[in-house]
Amino acid sequence: MMQNSNINPEEENRMIDAAYQNLLNGYLSSNHRKKVEIIDRAFKFARDAHQGIRRRSGEPYIMHPIAVATIVSQEIGLGSTSISASLLHDVVEDTDYTVEDIKAQFGEKIARIVDGLTKISGGIFGDKASVQAENFRKLLLTMSEDVRVILIKMADRLHNMRTLSSMPPNKQYKIAGETLYIYAPLAQRLGLYAIKTELEDLSFKYNHPQEYERISSLIEASEEQRNELFARFSAPIRERLDNMGLDYTFTVRVKSCYSIWKKMQMKHIPFEEVYDLYAARIVFQCDKEYDEKRLCWSIYDQITEVYTKHPDRVRDWLTTPKVNKYQALHVTVMGPDGNWVEVQIRSHRMDDIAERGFAAHWKYKLGEGEEEKELAKWLQTITDILKEPEPNAIDFLDTIKLNLFSSEIIVFTPKGEPMTMPKGASVLDLAFALHTDLGTHCIAGKVNHELVPSSYKLNSGDQVEIITSNTQYPQPEWMQVVVTAKGKARLRQALRHQRRLIIDKGEQRFMDFLAKHNIEFSNEILSQAISRQFVGSKDELYFMIGNDEIQLNEAMLNKKGQGARFNWWRRNPFKGKEAPKETTQDLSQAIDTKMVYRLETRDGVSNYRIADCCHPIPGDDTVGFLTEDNKVVVHKMDCPMLARLKASYGSRLLETQWEEYSDRFQASIHIIGIDQKGILQSIVNIISTNMSINMKKMSVTADQGVFNCDLDVLVSDATVVTNLCREIKKVKGVTNATRTN
Ligand code: MN
Repeated sequence: MMQNSNINPEEENRMIDAAYQNLLNGYLSSNHRKKVEIIDRAFKFARDAHQGIRRRSGEPYIMHPIAVATIVSQEIGLGSTSISASLLHDVVEDTDYTVEDIKAQFGEKIARIVDGLTKISGGIFGDKASVQAENFRKLLLTMSEDVRVILIKMADRLHNMRTLSSMPPNKQYKIAGETLYIYAPLAQRLGLYAIKTELEDLSFKYNHPQEYERISSLIEASEEQRNELFARFSAPIRERLDNMGLDYTFTVRVKSCYSIWKKMQMKHIPFEEVYDLYAARIVFQCDKEYDEKRLCWSIYDQITEVYTKHPDRVRDWLTTPKVNKYQALHVTVMGPDGNWVEVQIRSHRMDDIAERGFAAHWKYKLGEGEEEKELAKWLQTITDILKEPEPNAIDFLDTIKLNLFSSEIIVFTPKGEPMTMPKGASVLDLAFALHTDLGTHCIAGKVNHELVPSSYKLNSGDQVEIITSNTQYPQPEWMQVVVTAKGKARLRQALRHQRRLIIDKGEQRFMDFLAKHNIEFSNEILSQAISRQFVGSKDELYFMIGNDEIQLNEAMLNKKGQGARFNWWRRNPFKGKEAPKETTQDLSQAIDTKMVYRLETRDGVSNYRIADCCHPIPGDDTVGFLTEDNKVVVHKMDCPMLARLKASYGSRLLETQWEEYSDRFQASIHIIGIDQKGILQSIVNIISTNMSINMKKMSVTADQGVFNCDLDVLVSDATVVTNLCREIKKVKGVTNATRTN
């Protein structure tokens, strides 16, 4: 709440009283029974409860409940119970008073409404809103046994939207998006057209400020021309209506900025080409309701005698009103400038209903003292609408699904909880947003029940399930997939944590190894190991040990500092020859095949490194490459990287032969198949349960029903991989499984 430095308390009290008086005046001029006493008590109670609290705009807080009550009374047409509840609607949430206090002071009915309003501010309309399609209407019903709760909430939102400019921009976006997403469609369903239009326009204004400005000024700029055109269009009709002796108004109404913009978007047309920019409206006075329909059709006749009507654009909502009681006759005719013009024909009563929904409807039918009965009927109608299967919940969500948010999307968890994410967020972002553990173990996602890779970019309205695996761990490459600041921070932390765990494991192994050989740990031993392994630091050494990249052996501990003897490479096979230059040449022929050397280990030392690019495993044909610092890196014979090295450094190639089969080597497998339920689970079962193979990494994608899986496993030799592929191929749905390196 902001503090306003130059407040004049007297002036402020006058402002509050004036606003309240305006509320009362409106109420007193309505058809409701005049129950001023309870409204008055509610006002004073709320005013005292919010005493000293200010809104962000600097206004005294009580101005908000008064404004909400005024909307409830004058724009929705509700009575004293709702007005009182509106005045009290934020008391329980924002002050120390409880629902019990409200009940004691104002009775059960008002207390229940206030309770409902307090609950839904943290419920369906709150941050943790649950708006899954099937459940949406059900939730509305169960969470608000009294429909007035929804109507008051609607008024609350409308006032918050009207005063949205005092919120910071990021909140504006969120609130405006939510309004467009939940409240405007709801207002439409409830027949609150004026409120729906205003909510949409306000949302649009904050979501797309520049577009809003542009369209507003275009409407303004075209006003004169429009008025001229309308004068020409209406003149001959006026003449005829005057001759009928009708009491009427004939006006032109420009559509809302939002609906014009929506049309431009949907039809991909510029402003100038929105031909139904405005609608003409004839509203006539008629005392007898039974005369209304006849008069509508008479007016229709007059219009269509002057202008040609569009054959498909006559809307008769007289005979069968819309479900929300909207009644009118619409006809579209060709105007004098050759453009179609829609004319809406209504009686005053119908017009009132059109603008204010049900609230207006019952107002016209009252005998004295019938308000409560009629109101109850109306509220029942709304309840029926919400229960009604047509138009169904999916239609409702269609409006919702329109991705009209400029910077944010809303996606849903399988339980229907919405999550606001920035545009461009991936499945992995969502996983991290939900929980770090979900993020670090995420292997894929299911978006709208289809399997997608964790890099999949989410769209508004997507329902997303995160698929995890206990054997998955965070990868540095994920930094490219995660776009949210929160996701990046959590991933970075997870990666650090991951590395730390491996370092600790490596350190433990190193210490155990020393203990086993009765060697006392010393810095000398450590630095020896570091230099022998060509690593830069203690952490790097431990990391490589922990990550199975360095195998511990006794030769590492040569105390005399003689160093390991790299005598497992014996001879340069290219010695005395020109190194081959042609990269496409078959490598096996470049090497002197007559000389067979064993990749020898000495005292258990296997001080070679397995190439990262091709991950050869025992059983593969391999070639060694001697690096500048006398290390040997073992590549697969057909490794493309080796082919490149060969071109420049052919003389450093060594023939190798496997000796040890006990190590754990990394192999990659690609699996392709038809995506079906349980396929992933079956594959994982074969790997980890049936064959007890260590899974290092797994990434899954599914595109149009095609299942793709890349798998890294740790194995002792190539035959294990061959067997594994054979087993995986037996899984239902799998069409192929092959080793990729
Ligand atoms: Mn409020």
